[in-house]
Amino acid sequence: MLYVEEEILNHPRTLQIQGRFPDAEVVTCSRYGEIFNRRAQNFRLQKRRPSLILAKKHRNFVHEAPEGYGIEGARNLVFSHMHNCIYDCRYCFLQGMYRSAHYVVFVNYEDFQWALEERIRACRGETVWFFSGYECDSLALEPVTRFAASFVPFFARFPQAFLELRTKSTQIKSLLDMEAAPNVVVAFSFTPEEVQASMEHLTPPVDRRIGAMKRLQERGWRLGLRFDPLIYDERFREQYRRLYEQVFGVVRVESLHSVSLGPFRLPADFFRTIVRLYPEAPLFAAPLDEENGGPVGYRRDLEEEMVGFCREELLRHVPRELFFPGLSALPAVTPQEAGSSQVS
Ligand code: SF4
Repeated sequence: MLYVEEEILNHPRTLQIQGRFPDAEVVTCSRYGEIFNRRAQNFRLQKRRPSLILAKKHRNFVHEAPEGYGIEGARNLVFSHMHNCIYDCRYCFLQGMYRSAHYVVFVNYEDFQWALEERIRACRGETVWFFSGYECDSLALEPVTRFAASFVPFFARFPQAFLELRTKSTQIKSLLDMEAAPNVVVAFSFTPEEVQASMEHLTPPVDRRIGAMKRLQERGWRLGLRFDPLIYDERFREQYRRLYEQVFGVVRVESLHSVSLGPFRLPADFFRTIVRLYPEAPLFAAPLDEENGGPVGYRRDLEEEMVGFCREELLRHVPRELFFPGLSALPAVTPQEAGSSQVS
């Protein structure tokens, strides 16, 4: 099923996306919220057969990044051309944030780009970072959305503005078809193979993501590594040590813009929603700290042990100046909670 807002029925991007699903039943609606924000939806059931909703974004195109998130000392902003994700990671905060598992794609990229340009110009030459993978995976649906194909050339016009594309996908064809952009970082998220297999449903396996990084590296793209969230297992030391060996056996330090890691954290109400959806999920059988009134994460001693070990191991592979903890600061407050309308 393909839902399309009446206002954008004839938008060229709507027609292009619709052309990829010639057999889909098309249902029109006046605003996407009629479908996406309906009450009494079952996220878990919808996740089995999600629909695509094509919509127009009218306002609030760009938001300040949550406090502590981003590159220290720079202006950090987030934007989302899409809500939700084709993957199904059991720890993902989107499951707790949205009532619906349908995918919303805002097709009016040009309006986003006007808003971004306004923000860039307002920074008067100062460095500004934009993060696109906050409420979706930046590249997972690229063959359909052509998001990177449109936004990377846009960023090429503004060398002082940087874009992070965060992904777990291997959908890099658009990028391989272009010259590498020096102000675009393609950041891949990783957990160890065992975690990927048990919790990151539908995502490409670790070795295929590493393979995608290798191809981008060969074409001169700047890369990022995001080891977050760190997921506990009694063999986590061995798992993370092996993961780092796999990654750094292929990815060269010279190709890296930044590396980060961050513990598992979820706003408490999102956490409760996810537990209701997936009470049997193994993640929630681990020792968690739910009592401190803040975000839910692993028990403090466990979290410190994991972060300490993983950071030290990581620093055996990369120089300290490439380590950017703020790029994995999972938000305790999302832009939406903070009052705006606005994750891999
Ligand atoms: S954590 Fe990232 S990749 Fe996984 S479902 Fe959420 S947005 Fe998608």
